[in-house]
Amino acid sequence: MSEYNPFAIAQAQLDEAAERLGLDQATHEFLRWPMREYHFTLPLRMDSGTTKIFKGYRVQYNNARGPTKGGLRWHPDETIDTVRALAAWMTWKTSVVDIPLGGGKGGITCNPKELSEGEKERLARAYIRAVGRELGVHRDVPAPDVYTTPQIMAWMMDEYETMVGHSHPGMITGKPICIGGSQGRGDATARGGVYCVRETAKHLDMDIAKATYAIQGFGNAGQFAATLHSEILGGGTLVAASDSRGGVMNKNGLDQAALVRHKLETGSVANFPGSKPISNEDLLELEVDVLYPAALEGSITSKNADNIKAKIVCELANGPTTPEADKVLFEKGIYILPDFLANAGGVTVSYFEQVQNTYNYYWSLEDVHSQLDRKMTDAFNAVLEMSKKAKAHNRLVAYMVAVSRVAEACKMRGWV
Ligand code: GLU
Repeated sequence: MSEYNPFAIAQAQLDEAAERLGLDQATHEFLRWPMREYHFTLPLRMDSGTTKIFKGYRVQYNNARGPTKGGLRWHPDETIDTVRALAAWMTWKTSVVDIPLGGGKGGITCNPKELSEGEKERLARAYIRAVGRELGVHRDVPAPDVYTTPQIMAWMMDEYETMVGHSHPGMITGKPICIGGSQGRGDATARGGVYCVRETAKHLDMDIAKATYAIQGFGNAGQFAATLHSEILGGGTLVAASDSRGGVMNKNGLDQAALVRHKLETGSVANFPGSKPISNEDLLELEVDVLYPAALEGSITSKNADNIKAKIVCELANGPTTPEADKVLFEKGIYILPDFLANAGGVTVSYFEQVQNTYNYYWSLEDVHSQLDRKMTDAFNAVLEMSKKAKAHNRLVAYMVAVSRVAEACKMRGWV
């Protein structure tokens, strides 16, 4: 197995959980594969008048617990295997937070940084024309992910409603609030992760208000984690942050709000006044209390796991740690909050968004926060309870909680 093929990794993680749970052969084999997947070839009329061809995917991994749910990534390195892995992780994610949804994921292999607004809109609409008839609040519900935005969700919903001929806001989540988005969806991924850090600190008896932290990846999740960490935990020092163009550090602390403004103005954290440069690799190895990997998959591997010094690793990214690295971190006593638990806040508020769309009545921000807190805290505690029995690294423990729920739903339906 390659350490870097995300789907091979997702299957290996499942295999380990299946063995520990004593899953029967048929259920195990069934859960190793997507139930359904779609591949599209999308022609896009460019502003220049030429036509470019793009590859798109949607994987509906498992819908035993409810309609499939998961984001859409627009990334130059997107492949069917990354989408399959991410769809599998969505299945475990909706299960571990116990929301009545399955797992799915989609993507287009493209570089949105090179597309104009008009090209992005036409690509979004083309994607929906290709897959729209397989989507819907009772079928499969996309959302934002790497390089996709509320604006893209709005174009997609509009195209879908044009196709079906009636209002159907629950077919996609992460929409702008003025057209059926939920309060609190924007920062939900980071917020859910910080709630998990808060619960971990209670469990480890750590004085979290004095903790130092570093963030690798300064996209949607990373930027919100920068400010929410100290807001929710009552303090903390952000010592370093990085993105695909570079990183910055200051051991006396970076001003989080000013750093977010700098990122929004310049497109990168690099050259933030009053900081020293640091590489993405060195940032991961800093001696901090909490490390937030919030970039892409494959950041912590067998090559650098031994050098990680954080006490808590809160995975806001999907798939940042490989199975080899998991074992090393576990032996070093590092407390991992695995991705599909730590970043489940996003899909949890997406679920709230679907619920609000369906009964056409909208909640206050306070209601969203308190419901999210309850879901994340319950999920953290379910994993903690299992860890007392299972004595394994935390990802495996979280897998055991999530997989056993999905397996039970498959059995109840009479599939296996
Ligand atoms: N893309 C996010 C994730 O990986 C959110 C998915 C959703 O809201 O459906 O969890």
